[in-house]
Amino acid sequence: MEDCIFCKIVKGDIPCSKVYEDEHVIAFLDIAPASKGHTLVVPKEHYEIIPDVPNALLEKIIDVVKKVGNALLKENDGFNVMQNNKKAAEQLVPHVHFHVIPRNNEDGLDVAKWESSKYKEGEIEEFQAKLKENIG
Ligand code: AMP
Ligand code: ZN
Repeated sequence: MEDCIFCKIVKGDIPCSKVYEDEHVIAFLDIAPASKGHTLVVPKEHYEIIPDVPNALLEKIIDVVKKVGNALLKENDGFNVMQNNKKAAEQLVPHVHFHVIPRNNEDGLDVAKWESSKYKEGEIEEFQAKLKENIG
């Protein structure tokens, strides 16, 4: 879809720190992460919200959420999965996506109201490489 930032990422028109890709789904690091390693799992086809997505595709997306979650568990104590539908629910990008957010014991993160962290120079590449390796 024109003017959709995630469609542009899928097409390769704008860059992303990709950690996984298959025929239907792409996963990349969020640029303003709740915690470092925060990953977005996105179907390549444009749908706005969950009810729009065919169940067969939803299964493929959840399969990648599981892969990313398992990979994050190699370096972290836990993870949250978040998914927002419509502006009222804080959906900023109207292309359906799942947030997979690494969590650690006593990290004090409030995922309902996170303040973005910032990657240091070169750090996003380190997280990308580690996660790619752990996804396998
Ligand atoms: P939501 O509020 O659920 O729509 O979340 C959208 C997420 O997309 C936010 O956490 C943004 O930080 C993230 N985001 C927006 N643009 C980009 C981008 N170009 N690359 C990576 N993440 C992005
Ligand atoms: Zn889109």
